[in-house]
Amino acid sequence: MTSQLWERHVGVLYGMNKNSKIYVAGHRGLVGSAITRTLQKEKYDNLILRTRDELDLLNQKATRTFFEKEKPEYVFVAAAKVGGILANNAYPASFIYENLAIQNNVIHNAYLTGAKKLLFLGSSCIYPKLAPQPLKEEYLLTGPLEETNKMYAIAKITGIMMCQAYNRQYGNNFISVMPTNIYGPNDNFDLKSGHVFPALIRKFYEARLAGEKEVEVWGSGAARREFLHVDDLADACVFLMNNYDEPDILNIGTGEDISIKELAEFIREAVGFSGEIIWDQSKPDGTPRKLLDVSKINSLGWKYKTALKDGIAATYKWYKNTQSL
Ligand code: GDP
Repeated sequence: MTSQLWERHVGVLYGMNKNSKIYVAGHRGLVGSAITRTLQKEKYDNLILRTRDELDLLNQKATRTFFEKEKPEYVFVAAAKVGGILANNAYPASFIYENLAIQNNVIHNAYLTGAKKLLFLGSSCIYPKLAPQPLKEEYLLTGPLEETNKMYAIAKITGIMMCQAYNRQYGNNFISVMPTNIYGPNDNFDLKSGHVFPALIRKFYEARLAGEKEVEVWGSGAARREFLHVDDLADACVFLMNNYDEPDILNIGTGEDISIKELAEFIREAVGFSGEIIWDQSKPDGTPRKLLDVSKINSLGWKYKTALKDGIAATYKWYKNTQSL
């Protein structure tokens, strides 16, 4: 049997094959667009994609109709209401309502219409604020959450529990992964609602163009975070869709963290801004440290590829190009 035939044969039993009907929910977002790129690059040629205008996942009836018509075999749940530390803090009701609604609609309808497998994207903020570091999967639900993104975390924890419950009650194969802080093309570069990585790229870029002397960065700079390029996350998601069938959650990250201060220095350098960094300590630091233990996914044979400095350079280049369009 040729390797391609063999791949297709095995794919029918265990994972996706190149003709499988695959729905990427949220394919325009940071993570969903990267999963779509990866699937297309790997020649999966039966993708189902819907923009928000075409399908509002908050709408139960519309989601039901879509699933009944398309009956996707594999579902990546990358649709979510996401945002940085201030957005999470300012709009807790939107974060809990929209995430619960989207994931309820997608997960339940995937079950109803017989999806073979579903991959639910959680987040590293599901772990307790003061859990030991690096964060092991088993620390889930062992302590109080960080206040700034508690509602988002509660929604994501509910999604994980829902996948596990459906596996137990209905025999589904719904898996959940917990990515660390993700960055890359198609991120949200809005300064108020976005995360630290895109915000800093934009702040330093605009300050350089305007010839500013200083740039304000939030918090003390002491908080530590782990950053993974979204293409690596997408690669891991496709790998796990094909190779992981356990109900237990799985971390996806690099296993290395840096302080926000170091990140700001790296980005300042990449962008070529020569002014000063001013720390605005009226803004929250959030959880003091968020570093994932990635030994479980590493032991399955997956490891990240993009070094942080390369990822910063690539993302800056992408951002700069979008600005000159
Ligand atoms: P978090 O990982 O959920 O806390 O999300 P963020 O990416 O929003 O924030 C990470 C850390 O970066 C926090 O300590 C923020 O205070 C800090 N930070 C520094 N400057 C900025 C900024 O311009 N935007 C955001 N979102 N965070 C910043």
